[in-house]
Amino acid sequence: MSTEEADVVVIGAGVSGLGFANWYRVLHPHARVLVLEGDSEPGGYCKTITQDGFVWDYSGHFFHFKHPHIEHWLRERMPGQDIRTIVKQSTIRYAGLDIDFPFQKNIHQLPKDEFLECLVDLYFRPTGETPPASFKEMLYRRLGTAITEKFLRPYNEKLYAIDLDKLDPDAMGRFFPHAELADIIGNMRPGAKDGGYNATFTYPAGGAIQYIHALLSGLPADTVCCNEPVTEIDLGAREVVTPVRRIRFGKIVSSAPLPALARMCGVAHDPSVFTSNQVLVFNLGFDRKGPRGVHWMYFPDRELCFYRVGFYDNIFDTDRMSLYVEVGAPHGATFDVDALRARVMTDLARENIVDGHQLVSHHHVVLDPAYVHITKASLAETQRVRDGLALAGVHSVGRYGGWTYCSIEDNLLETQALAKII
Ligand SMILES: Cc1cc2nc3c(=O)[nH]c(=O)nc-3n(C[C@H](O)[C@H](O)[C@H](O)COP(=O)(O)OP(=O)(O)OC[C@H]3O[C@@H](n4cnc5c(N)ncnc54)[C@H](O)[C@@H]3O)c2cc1C
Repeated sequence: MSTEEADVVVIGAGVSGLGFANWYRVLHPHARVLVLEGDSEPGGYCKTITQDGFVWDYSGHFFHFKHPHIEHWLRERMPGQDIRTIVKQSTIRYAGLDIDFPFQKNIHQLPKDEFLECLVDLYFRPTGETPPASFKEMLYRRLGTAITEKFLRPYNEKLYAIDLDKLDPDAMGRFFPHAELADIIGNMRPGAKDGGYNATFTYPAGGAIQYIHALLSGLPADTVCCNEPVTEIDLGAREVVTPVRRIRFGKIVSSAPLPALARMCGVAHDPSVFTSNQVLVFNLGFDRKGPRGVHWMYFPDRELCFYRVGFYDNIFDTDRMSLYVEVGAPHGATFDVDALRARVMTDLARENIVDGHQLVSHHHVVLDPAYVHITKASLAETQRVRDGLALAGVHSVGRYGGWTYCSIEDNLLETQALAKII
């Protein structure tokens, strides 16, 4: 086995790893940076499948850029791509009605008796002297019983596949559409429209992988090595081990899940705090168009196997229904994919999304981990392990390296900041 040298070894060729390699290269053009990727292709969770004329991601990956310079920087590297900025249309299917998202700001769209129930519970919500101890308590205390039990609790229990009492009150960070009483009442005015944390999104015609191609375009061809998982990191010898070589490193930037990185480094950690859900994503292509004017729908009904369904075909207004369907499950659960696909089709028909349509193409992928369970213990252990590794020149980044809830823009901002300081 050969031994080589690199100034920086990057683990993972997803948005975070490739983002870091780009930012670092600009600042240190002569440094040797190697990106090692265990999979056969770059992209991580930003991969795209094109099949039978359909373009599918690993579940809908729609992009909500808050920093124009990041979006501009990416777009500059995507010449010729049709990239659209779309005004988001997302709804909640609640008891046969379609309520605008977020639920808490659109309770006036409910039948009158349920609206009054939500409003009264919201007004008389149980406040307390001390901050809420869990995500579940936060929901009841900020939004009252009815809003919590009609949407927020069942939806998030289906998504996270965990008792919400275990999650930190801020488990969703800025992705949770907080609403004060005044916002909710204000949104009842005719013409008022609050789309939550993301009123528009951008999406390239070629799917999420186009952002990965943009990141790859800034790197010399031999930077990224696929099919080369890192199996061990020898912090003493400062060597990374893969099945084909050892690489002496100056620094490591890893986007592998943090507990896996800690294991590879032989660093003491508590694996029990790093829990997460998994999401089985079905991408489904049909013979003709389905519902129009909606990009994704949330389903709190516990009788339905999915929690969210998205319509790729309504972004570019293509003529055949093209869906992603997300099913949440606890980590470790196994799926009977054929049986679940049949169940998804039944449930889609029950919700009148499929109405005599023929399924002409399908694909599925399991994202594991998908949504990490952010708890007080995970926050403390993440900080402790990351800080310890950083002292050894090993920087853990990205959605799973940071064991957090974030977007691809966050991944790019984080790795840009890191490139400046190491
Ligand atoms: C269901 C779902 C929907 C989402 N939707 C959106 C959205 O609409 N918009 C948005 O902005 N973000 C979205 N995200 C978040 C987005 O997917 C992530 O922020 C982003 O893809 C994370 O990139 P990453 O590089 O940090 O991690 P990853 O994409 O997980 O990449 C890590 C890479 O490291 C590799 N790797 C792991 N271990 C090793 C090893 N030992 N050796 C070598 N390689 C290794 C993996 O194979 C992988 O390629 C969504 C996430 C999920 C789960």
